[in-house]
Amino acid sequence: MYYIGIDIGGTNLKAGLVDENYRITATRKQPLQFTSMEQMGDTLAKMAIGLVEENSVPRDQVASVGMGFPGPVDDKRGVVIKTVNIPIRFMPVAEMFHRQWDGVPVHLGNDADCAALGEYYHYEDKNIESLILVTLGTGIGTGIILNGRIHTGINGCAGEGGHIVLVHGGEQCTCGRKGCWERYASANALIRQTMAAMDQSRDSIMWGMVGGDLSRVDGRTAFEAMRKGDAAARAVVDQYLRYLADGLSNFVNIFQPEVIALGGGVSHERDEDLLLPLQRMVLEDCFGREADRHTRLAKAKLGNDAGIIGAALLGLQAQGTEPSGKGAGDIISQAKEQLSAVFGHVDSQAAGEIFSFLKELVQDDALKSEEGMINAIKKGKEKFGVEVDREDAQKLVDTMERLEEIGFSPEYILDKAQGLYQQYGADFVDHMDEVVAGAAKDAAQGAVQGFFANLKESVKNFFSNIFS
Ligand SMILES: [Zn+2]
Repeated sequence: MYYIGIDIGGTNLKAGLVDENYRITATRKQPLQFTSMEQMGDTLAKMAIGLVEENSVPRDQVASVGMGFPGPVDDKRGVVIKTVNIPIRFMPVAEMFHRQWDGVPVHLGNDADCAALGEYYHYEDKNIESLILVTLGTGIGTGIILNGRIHTGINGCAGEGGHIVLVHGGEQCTCGRKGCWERYASANALIRQTMAAMDQSRDSIMWGMVGGDLSRVDGRTAFEAMRKGDAAARAVVDQYLRYLADGLSNFVNIFQPEVIALGGGVSHERDEDLLLPLQRMVLEDCFGREADRHTRLAKAKLGNDAGIIGAALLGLQAQGTEPSGKGAGDIISQAKEQLSAVFGHVDSQAAGEIFSFLKELVQDDALKSEEGMINAIKKGKEKFGVEVDREDAQKLVDTMERLEEIGFSPEYILDKAQGLYQQYGADFVDHMDEVVAGAAKDAAQGAVQGFFANLKESVKNFFSNIFS
């Protein structure tokens, strides 16, 4: 299966074909040309179609198409609310896309959020559940991943970390406020601070480094001069790190994420000049400094590819069914344990009957009423006499709840578990991982819907009661 990601930038459109290992296998790029929202929708669809045709990928091998826009989006309705620099307002992108390529799920994200999602899936430790990406550029872009999901807020506008106020009554920001973090800690801010310091220190070696031309100052100038012993440069870097650390500590105090990844050109500075002092300052300042686990600062890895990869993976996130099992793996192994606790005690015939019995109850809506529930429990006990103690039953219910949180309905799991049982017999629990991979495929084909959603609660109740 493939996922298509399109990154809508200020000057270019970039599309990429992303495989199941979250790697880009092919790309397509074109300059952004905007004449109307209709034309834009048309262009985006043609780009995705062009990408699959160029690479001879059948359309049914594309699980989903995701797009990252520079502004807030409403993914549920498939609408881009607005974008900066491009005059898009309430554009029904998903509907426009489907006029040319119907049937493929289309997902929308904010570009900074997409980049964070890409970094999250590529982070070396596959067990993390929270990551915040902070990109230092013209401004500061931030994307927040909590429990494996983008935190969008109620309106798609969450995660605008560049616009938390750091200096009361400070520099005017483009957002309308004064003293925003990005006015002090973005790459552009660093450049301004470097130029101001040079103005004050005519004897700084930075003048020689830029040939006396202030327009040649960049984000590296102060760092390089500092390493050569320049005092003015040292002061610029020290102050800049202070601004950066203060903002990062604010994030740590609110979210205590497992990882904050730093992106943008500045993040390529040597660890001893950037990451290590920042890590030390944040640890000194943040709440919970005595705790035994701390937020780790890391370099972002994907660079410009993060946007495409993250956009492509929006579809996975929406279904909560990641093929490599990120976030799902530990829950599946928990499910294995619980299922073997239940099915370990019965012979294969009884196990098959339990599955059929449960599915029948679900299909007949038998668990919707209090009366139906009581009957079902009674019948279940009479029929199978399964002896499962209270603790195991509770664990099973907990597991079901956790599975639901990541997008699997109990009915779906039941169905798949029975399929595995028929194939592998009593060892079926060892194959539960296949449920995750299967779910990704089913999700792609639109088979996993909220079809049984109204029955979820009753099935949970059923599990909690029948084995008690
Ligand atoms: Zn601002």
